[in-house]
Order: sequence, then structure tokens, then C-alpha cells
Amino acid sequence: MCGIVGMVNGHPVAVDLAAALGRLEYRGHDSAGVALAGPGLPVHRILGRATDLLRMLEAARPEGRAGIGHTRWATHGRPELHNAHPHRHGGVAVVHNGIIENHDALRRQLRDQGHHFASDTDSEVIPHLMAEGLAHGLAPIEALLATCRALEEELGYIRAEGYPSGELKHGPIAVIREGSPVIVCTPGDAGQAKVLANASAVAARGAHLVALTDAAGLEAAEATAAQTITLPGDALTAPFAQAVFLQLLAYHTAVVLRHDVDRPRNLAKSVTVE
Ligand code: GLU
Repeated sequence: MCGIVGMVNGHPVAVDLAAALGRLEYRGHDSAGVALAGPGLPVHRILGRATDLLRMLEAARPEGRAGIGHTRWATHGRPELHNAHPHRHGGVAVVHNGIIENHDALRRQLRDQGHHFASDTDSEVIPHLMAEGLAHGLAPIEALLATCRALEEELGYIRAEGYPSGELKHGPIAVIREGSPVIVCTPGDAGQAKVLANASAVAARGAHLVALTDAAGLEAAEATAAQTITLPGDALTAPFAQAVFLQLLAYHTAVVLRHDVDRPRNLAKSVTVE
């Protein structure tokens, strides 16, 4: 779990990047670093706090009107300077969040192709894979897509959040894309028409809408949702039936993903932040 920031601006961005990293330190503070666009793709890294990086960059004032920055929460490789992000190789600088599950296999394959690594991180395979792609004549975007296809990205959780339907248009709707699964809890009560009106706005943007309803709400729900599931009870008892359904959905999703449902991975990180 790291902090990542990117900036493009009309003036040098190094100091602003480091200041932004200071606000992301709750996500990791083992090291901090920035890479700046420009000749040689300069990288400035520091073991420790973003505030120290900020002081360093305020003194050095490097050029570069575009850049990326990272505060690290080490998973692969000790918190040491050579493991700090960004990792640079062959004209590509990378900041990475999370874990690359198949990094060992990728490292071995890249070593066989003559690559040398400067860090112990899983992340460093990314710029090396990119460099391979570019060396084979791929355009940068194609090399990036080929690299992403080679990575088995850790997917610890499927992010899911609950919102009152009236709040959907104040933010969550921005992340809806074709096929996003959205579950709408919509019993046949006085508010159903309004809930379904909001749900149809999500469906119009490509979401796959599943309605949890009851006998009284079924007809209206079917007119809006791609799928309906009829729960027992009525509008008064609906929250209880919905809670059971949603818990079971989370449980079975975790089981399908082969996670240990009794030991949620990485949970400590999410409950210990200030
Ligand atoms: N796995 C990477 C590393 O250990 C990224 C960790 C992070 O998300 O900060 O460097």
C-alpha cells in the first residue's frame, strides 16, 4: 500500500510532487522518490520521509515539468534506498502499488535475456519488461499493455462500497463503466421509484444492475434491472434480508477467489492508519 502521484505542469513539478507525497505518507513512509521528465529521466529518492525529500528538492530545484512520485510501504525488499521507487530502466521510470505475484518467474526470464536488477523489489520487473517491449519496436502504449498482460497483479479485494442511491450521482457514478456490477436494494416501498430512477442512471452508463427486491417491488425492479433477486419479507424487514444476502455474496466471492475468509489479507493495514 503506497502513495502515488503524477503531475504535468507549466513549471517544474519536483517540489509540488514531494509536497503531495507528504500528504500520502499515511499510505507508506519507508522511502519517497520522484522521477522527472527530461534528459536522463532524473530520479531523486530518499530513505525515510517525504518531508526530507521535499527539503532536498527545495534546495536542488530540479527541472522537469512532468513527473511521478511514490511513498513506499515495502512488501518485497527491505526499506533501503536501492529499493525506493521510482525504478528506472531504459528510459522508463515506474512507481507501483501492491504486489506482482509472478515477479520471481519474470525476474528469472528477464535475467536469462541479460537483464540486471538494481533492487530487490517485485516492481522493478515492470521497467525491464517495458524496455523489452520497446526494444522489439512496440509503441510505448503497446509495450505498456504487453507488460500489464505479463503481470499477475495481486487482487486482494474486490472493492465494494454501499451508497444511498441519491448519492450515486455525486461521485460513485464517475467510476461506473461497461459491465460494472451494481447491486441495488429496492424493496417495493414508497421510495422505490426514486431508487430505481437513480439505478437506471447507473445502468445507462453500462453498469450490470442486479436488483434485490421483494414480492411487492418485483415488477418495477424487473423493468429497470438486468437481474432481479426476490428476497422474503416486506419493506420493513428488507434490511435484514439484504444484509444476509450481501454478506453471503462477499463470502462466496472470497471463496471463489480462493481467499481465507477468516483471515482477510492485509486487513491490519486498513485499520491502523491514523
Ligand atoms: N511491492 C512494491 C515494493 O515492495 C510496492 C510496495 C508498495 O505498494 O509500496 O516496493
